[in-house]
Amino acid sequence: VNLEEEDAEEDLLPRSPIVTVMGHVDHGKTSLLDFIRKANVISGEAGGITQHIGAYEVKLDEEKSITFLDTPGHEAFTAMRARGAKVTDVAIIVIAADDTVMPQTTEAINHALAANLPMVFAFNKMDKPGANPDKIREQLSAMNILVEEWGGKYQTQEISAKSGMNIDKLLEKVSLEAELLELKANPNKRAVGTVIEAQLDKGRGYVATVLVEAGTLKVGDPILAGSYSGRVKALYNERGSRVEKAGPAAPVQVLGFQGAPQAGDRFNGVESEPEAREIANKRLQLQREQGLRTQKH
Ligand code: GDP
Repeated sequence: VNLEEEDAEEDLLPRSPIVTVMGHVDHGKTSLLDFIRKANVISGEAGGITQHIGAYEVKLDEEKSITFLDTPGHEAFTAMRARGAKVTDVAIIVIAADDTVMPQTTEAINHALAANLPMVFAFNKMDKPGANPDKIREQLSAMNILVEEWGGKYQTQEISAKSGMNIDKLLEKVSLEAELLELKANPNKRAVGTVIEAQLDKGRGYVATVLVEAGTLKVGDPILAGSYSGRVKALYNERGSRVEKAGPAAPVQVLGFQGAPQAGDRFNGVESEPEAREIANKRLQLQREQGLRTQKH
């Protein structure tokens, strides 16, 4: 069964970018994501982002918004990439300016390069007396990563995730980077996307956060992810509010799966529940057979 059809050019509409934050431990990824989440509350929208559902969307202005993968550390990103999922459009590489380019910084950069992800560099902890962003610029150029202010192609922004200094400027640069990609998706079809996280929740059953990439997911839709099927019982956004539907680049919690799919699993809205169940069962059977085969060898 072909679950994903090609879109006609005229059906494609602009969509928001999906951004991931990567970098060395303690360089400020969590602080940056936390600040952005809080800053969004100030923009006057009803209800703050109260839930950690693995991703959230922030509005920059009336037209522009950015969806952040709220999974600091690149474990989730790595897991997803290992499963062949390409979720992110732009990477923010956070580097503490009072430190140096560290092993996980290099790893993050290499991940982004391998995935062909545009990068924007955030030189963090600029409030600290020891901050020396030029030293970082030098170290990056030694890795063939030449920053814009030195004639290269990579945008950088000096920030403080602690005070919030220049984070607005960072988001503008990320948005600019994303605009170059001319991201588009067809919102008028069955939803397709990626599972960000999933777990069994006491009282609510299996809860999965999915990032819709194209199409629109609605309450009542038959769904399929990995070897699990179901039907959407309810959808919640990152503010904990019930929503009726979720379109391209929207992160949403889905209630109604018969099990917990894995991070990075492809997610599809399907024609009917029996069809979803049939495909899920076939996949499960395939997994078992493969499992048996690897055991024999
Ligand atoms: P992560 O491991 O990359 O997620 O880093 P965290 O966000 O947990 O930050 C590690 C430590 O650095 C924490 O103690 C933060 O409070 C601190 N930190 C993060 N950003 C800044 C900053 O801009 N300035 C200062 N002074 N400290 C920061």
